[in-house]
Amino acid sequence: MELFEPFRNEPYSDFTQEGPQQAYRQALAEVRNQLGRDYPLIIGNKPLETGQWIVSSNPCAKDEVIGRAAKAQAAQIEPVMAAAYQGYHEWSGWSMAERARTLVKLAAIMRRRKLELAAWMTLEAGKNYAEAEADTAEAIDFVEYYARQSLRLAEPLPTYPYPGEENTSFLISIGVGVVIPPWNFPLAILTGMTIGPVAVGNAVIVKPASDTPVIAAKFMECVLEAGFPPGVINYFPGGGSDIGDALVDHPRTRFINFTGSLAVGLRINERAAKVQSGQTWLKKVYLELGGKDALIVDESADLDLAAAAAAASGYGYQGQKCSAMSRLIVVDKVYDALLKKFLARVGALKLGPAEGNYPVNAVISAKAQESILGYIAKGKEQARLVLGGKTARPDGHYLEPTVFADVPEDAAIACEEIFGPVVAVMRAKDFSDALRIANDSPYGLTGGVISRQREHIERARREFMAGNLYVNRKITGALVGVQPFGGFKLSGSNAKAGGPDYLRLFMEMKTVTERF
Ligand code: NAP
Ligand code: MG
Repeated sequence: MELFEPFRNEPYSDFTQEGPQQAYRQALAEVRNQLGRDYPLIIGNKPLETGQWIVSSNPCAKDEVIGRAAKAQAAQIEPVMAAAYQGYHEWSGWSMAERARTLVKLAAIMRRRKLELAAWMTLEAGKNYAEAEADTAEAIDFVEYYARQSLRLAEPLPTYPYPGEENTSFLISIGVGVVIPPWNFPLAILTGMTIGPVAVGNAVIVKPASDTPVIAAKFMECVLEAGFPPGVINYFPGGGSDIGDALVDHPRTRFINFTGSLAVGLRINERAAKVQSGQTWLKKVYLELGGKDALIVDESADLDLAAAAAAASGYGYQGQKCSAMSRLIVVDKVYDALLKKFLARVGALKLGPAEGNYPVNAVISAKAQESILGYIAKGKEQARLVLGGKTARPDGHYLEPTVFADVPEDAAIACEEIFGPVVAVMRAKDFSDALRIANDSPYGLTGGVISRQREHIERARREFMAGNLYVNRKITGALVGVQPFGGFKLSGSNAKAGGPDYLRLFMEMKTVTERF
């Protein structure tokens, strides 16, 4: 018998309609009334101030403070580890069904607060209505999906019978882990990375990204209401470069669940490999890293579809998605025609505050804006700037949607992840050449092909080295349970979040043999 109704993805609102728009503006107004509050650490379900704060601001109105989160320091690491182990000892003893019910309760609380949670991200992360709602919907989906997946792992695994013995193999939780998410899906990724391991009996210390600690605190409010035992989920914001190493190195850290940049991921991988004094296990490390995602357009493609898919993939959330298209690889025959249609679409994108629901909003921070401008400067030396390239609106960290054409394969903007609204359009001789260019990257996260030619589509299915390949649509927006997500090569561990194998990564198998 199934415990819960079948999984369904959370529906989206149609924000072209006045009703949903008005409901969203109402949520924004309610959130606006709560700006500027303080959020302490939550250790063992209890608040703790640290005397230092991370100030979170609105990317689209940079002087506006969203809230302050307590900044954890080295002194809080032993207390949080102790609380997490206490939580672990209780939680790991609960049955899978008891835990799953707690998750479904959490999802219900988040669903009731859906527009409010989205509105926090509009203000804290610079996401327009549809982007922020999708982030919230994905978070709820992770909780509902993992609740159901966990139940499948409660049963012993099938093994062959053996005369005179009883043999059982079953899965158990592993311990306390550190969860380190990025700011770009500050609710969805944080929720998925936290609830995955927790669903199967582990406890976690969550260190949110420093650009988005307030939405993480809102998630924590939902966690507290849902009734997790103290210490199972701990809210522990702090500077990655201050406390990251200490959390990763800690001898009692059993696993690290990280999503972020390649550089930080590689550092974690190395440090976690070293067995520290007093450590009695090998740490499990899951790293979901960057991308340099390519969309190929061939000579048979519907060019209007291609231009629309490219614009949505390249500039949705200002190109700040790991799945964002940053290389548009077009075969010579249709290069000029496609470039013209693409520029027309991108040029029509209006730029303004997320709160006003503009399609293009500010990038996350001054630091990000500066780094993207650095790539634009390099791009001007190595390729042809055909659109944008400048900052816009001084009230926020705005950048014009930017297109470079005729980008050579070895240009920095063709090779390195920029993580902003900058697309490199590249010319390929033919489809084979386009595939070669697409695969010539250390990353392999998402990719796409726009084509009407079956032979090309089948070749891409076999040869395109991307963990998530999309055909004849945009290359962003993976759905939980429908499109398990994760990349090849240096894009990371390919844990496939939102997929059927995810929870297994946070468990280990025990085999018991009894001879009678
Ligand atoms: P980031 O700079 O690597 O930061 C990610 C997290 O790591 C933050 O919480 C950060 O904390 C923390 N951190 C920084 N230094 C650390 C250290 N020495 N030890 C431990 N933790 C440390 O990445 P980001 O700018 O937030 O996110 C963008 C990147 O994430 C892009 O490369 C993007 O492609 C990737 N991403 C990948 C996926 C995927 O599924 N593959 C999904 C989304 C994003 P602070 O904020 O305090 O510095
Ligand atoms: Mg900010």
